[in-house]
Amino acid sequence: MEPAKPHAVCIPVPAQGHINPMLKLAKLLHFKGFHITFVHTDFNYNRCLLSSRGPDSLKGSTSFRFETISDGLPSTNQRGIQDLPALCLKLPVAGLRSFRDLIRRLNDSADVPPVTCIVSDGVLSFTLEVAEEFGISEMVLFTPSACGMLGYVHFEELKDRGYFPLKDESCLTNGYLDTVIDWIPAMKGIRLKDLPTFLRTTNPDDIMFNYNLQSVNNSVKAKAVILNTFDDLEEEFLDAIKTKFPNLYTIGPLHLLHRQLCPETSLNSIESSLWKEDHNCLDWLDKREPKSVLYANYGSLITVTQEQLREFAWGLADSNYPFLWVIRADAVEGGEEILSKEFMEAIKGRGLLVGWCPQEKVLIHPAVGGFLTHCGWNSTLESISEGVPLICWPFFAEQQTNCLFSCTKWGIGMEIDCDIKRGIIEALVKEVMEGEKGKGMREMSQVWKKKAEAATSPGGSSFRNFDRLIKELEQRPI
Ligand code: UDP
Repeated sequence: MEPAKPHAVCIPVPAQGHINPMLKLAKLLHFKGFHITFVHTDFNYNRCLLSSRGPDSLKGSTSFRFETISDGLPSTNQRGIQDLPALCLKLPVAGLRSFRDLIRRLNDSADVPPVTCIVSDGVLSFTLEVAEEFGISEMVLFTPSACGMLGYVHFEELKDRGYFPLKDESCLTNGYLDTVIDWIPAMKGIRLKDLPTFLRTTNPDDIMFNYNLQSVNNSVKAKAVILNTFDDLEEEFLDAIKTKFPNLYTIGPLHLLHRQLCPETSLNSIESSLWKEDHNCLDWLDKREPKSVLYANYGSLITVTQEQLREFAWGLADSNYPFLWVIRADAVEGGEEILSKEFMEAIKGRGLLVGWCPQEKVLIHPAVGGFLTHCGWNSTLESISEGVPLICWPFFAEQQTNCLFSCTKWGIGMEIDCDIKRGIIEALVKEVMEGEKGKGMREMSQVWKKKAEAATSPGGSSFRNFDRLIKELEQRPI
């Protein structure tokens, strides 16, 4: 009798920037012969199924199945995944119970092979408890960049050295965040304000800071740590992380590795967008000149004020470049801003506004010449992979760190480091699209694009690391 397939249970944090890379990894494991159980939360599963993408988007196969666990949030919490502190409080408790039940059920089922490994998001530590109970090995995928991760790895020391919590509220505005930290390896000269923003609080019990600190500490129990990056891009940061996590696999950019290894599999119809994608924007891009369009998108979690929205709007309009601007329905504080008739008139035939787009397809489109981004790691890496330079507007978490190194070390970005004003946006768009500095950034973007492709091609670092990862994941407890 043929031995049962190895069975990996893949469980991401229920947020877009975590689901996307985990789904890519799950598909890659499936391609290598694994049976996959992919775990969504009830809330997201129903949202994907019912309101956003339709049942086909979750139709797996006999060897790629979806299951759900509870996130513990009341169904009345409409903000759902946007409410990170609530999620960090509730999910570990409700998730632990329902994840344990799920593993038991899978192991008792005659329909699927016994679970041989868990691949969990690095910030879902409760899964490690379940893995231990069932004697199953676990690896964790951390979805931030290595530079961002290095900040989280030092949360404990930042606390011990008295940088967390802040002494008082004035530290937020009196220049204190410009303090240079010179003891984090590979990050000489980094300022407090470049580190993950969760340390910017006077509350010693802050849920986001402590949750991230604990997640890093708990992850030393995992058999290995996986990062969605590539060695050439973040070598020094990776070396520094290895002192805490010696068994580290860098297998990114995951979407390029996926494109390389499984361009056409039956699973490609499985999608992960939690919002309905507007595909008309691709037809719109088809009609534009190469590298003529500025693409603007702030990701899945950020909200902007009405004032910021207005300044962005007029900055984009005044630049006179064509632009594709994604504004999620829930992205504007205080409800949806009605952009003025005058603005809509000004951008007629030149600007396209949509609620959510297929970003990977947008960034690969030849018409896109620049990306105004919040510097979420997936967006940054997707842009690096397609050689598109950045205008950086980091908002929170490790986006500030991604922004810093995009603008300095990698030479592919320019930061909006002040309040949003239309004149500043206009000038930056013009510079990135056709200015002298923009030209240099475009060249550097092409250099990194080639390196990203090389890393994920046969013989490249991520390609080889993925093969090693498979071997380690296939090992079964004796
Ligand atoms: N994304 C998308 N369409 C959009 C906006 C975002 O497909 O209109 C995807 C994007 O390609 C990326 C993810 O959503 O994979 C966002 O992750 P990121 O880490 O950039 O930011 P977050 O949303 O976590 O802040």
